[in-house]
Amino acid sequence: MSALETRARQALARLGASTPDDGDLAARTPITGEVLGRVKTSTPDDVDAAISRAHASFRAWRSVPAPVRAAVVRRLGQLLTEHKSDLADLVTLEAGKISSEALGEVQEMIDICEFAVGISRQLYGKTMASERPGHRLSETWHPLGVVGVISAFNFPVAVWSWNTALALVCGDTVVWKPSEATPLTAVACDALLRRACVDVGADPAVHQLVQGSAAVGEQLVDDARVALLSATGSVRMGRAVAPRVAARFGKALLELGGNNGAIVTPSADLDLAVRGIVFAAAGTAGQRCTSLRRVIVHASIADDLVGRIADAYRQLPIGDPFDDSTLVGPLINRAAFEAMQTSLQQARADGATVVLGGDRVDVAGPDSYYVSPAIVRMASQTSVVREETFAPILYVLTYTTLDEAIELHNAVPQGLSSSIFTTDQREAERFLAADGSDCGIANVNIGTSGAEIGGAFGGEKETGGGRESGSDSWQAYMRRATNTINYSDQLPLAQGVNFG
Ligand code: NAD
Repeated sequence: MSALETRARQALARLGASTPDDGDLAARTPITGEVLGRVKTSTPDDVDAAISRAHASFRAWRSVPAPVRAAVVRRLGQLLTEHKSDLADLVTLEAGKISSEALGEVQEMIDICEFAVGISRQLYGKTMASERPGHRLSETWHPLGVVGVISAFNFPVAVWSWNTALALVCGDTVVWKPSEATPLTAVACDALLRRACVDVGADPAVHQLVQGSAAVGEQLVDDARVALLSATGSVRMGRAVAPRVAARFGKALLELGGNNGAIVTPSADLDLAVRGIVFAAAGTAGQRCTSLRRVIVHASIADDLVGRIADAYRQLPIGDPFDDSTLVGPLINRAAFEAMQTSLQQARADGATVVLGGDRVDVAGPDSYYVSPAIVRMASQTSVVREETFAPILYVLTYTTLDEAIELHNAVPQGLSSSIFTTDQREAERFLAADGSDCGIANVNIGTSGAEIGGAFGGEKETGGGRESGSDSWQAYMRRATNTINYSDQLPLAQGVNFG
């Protein structure tokens, strides 16, 4: 057994789960390409049974008071704190994230648990002024039902926890279909949540795990018992899923691809901008939905900025994500490497200059895919720049007026994250204004990635419009009932209508 396989088995054991090894779905590590375990793909009957169990459990769970439901999530947060490094190890093993980012991902889970526990006492409805005497008009938020969660490989545990922590305090139950690339982290999370349920005396059936690829997800998409489908992944996946959920009048929460840009103006603090850009563009090997993919820089400082980013890129240690000095780990698989090469070829055909990077780096043999992050100067925003390539390619475009920069920035189909580097308040406010960035996330003087859980997370246009995590995102997991109560002995009709 290889060292990485042993490491996975030991982490899983400490997390209260055993390594599945008799299934058809291979859990591979992008670190070397080795198989860590074999998970069984859920059959259609398995998925149906999981939805049935979640649906049956919901009928009782919805009536448990929300602050009491929160006990499960509080306990989950405690277990995650105890097992932070074990779960982070599995994230590094399965998704290839460097240890510091993997630990950060688990911290995000702990943070959302804390947030959800607080929210459990704040599921507020409004009271509105009624136009009729002796009447009270208000709204109540009720649990929705079964939430189907489909998640992507690159945040294999945090996205699940954003959805599950809120869904559980909101009185919903969950059926989770993780990415087929990260089945072991899912087994670990399921085991921790099961333990949390047992520890606080809640029904463990509130959470169900199903494993497999798109076909398993499709069953959640089409089942009318799944009241909300929360799907995180590519625009391609969202395009397939959204019309099917709509056709059965289900609710969908879509968190899809981004094509995130940063504008760098002549007044920017370039030292700070370079640090922000390098983390956002090269961090996680460019495999975050919020990774920085486009820099739109004022022509007068473009050469200086590109030179500084290139200097920083030359220093980036690429290698084993468990090594503390590494900053850039592997791509998830061969397909990701090939997609990166195809995009670079297309960019060259469009007249681009590849300033540096884009090459394969041999770290651990032929079954793993490590690359040097690329910087590519483009004369214009051609179609390859307008699509998301899930790899570390940073396109650099130039502008002369801020209007032109904002125009270029918004001229892509996705609308997730954005930022401006400037010390000019006028420029910053303009970027944040109604005619500024059209994204769900708009930042000033930080990069596009690395959001905190307190804010609502999500984006516009082809990113899907969903919001998860903080602020009032919990509302997506509940249904709103408007209540009119007549406490008078008269029956006045609204809008002054007279009826007999
Ligand atoms: P992907 O679209 O290939 O897969 C995502 C999930 O959807 C997987 O679980 C997959 O099995 C499932 N799936 C795919 N097709 C499906 C279908 N037709 N029906 C049902 N399920 C289906 O994405 P990926 O490669 O795992 O992740 C990378 C993508 O995810 C990038 O585009 C990235 O931007 C996006 N992403 C977005 C966010 C966000 O919050 N906006 C967060 C993380 C990742």
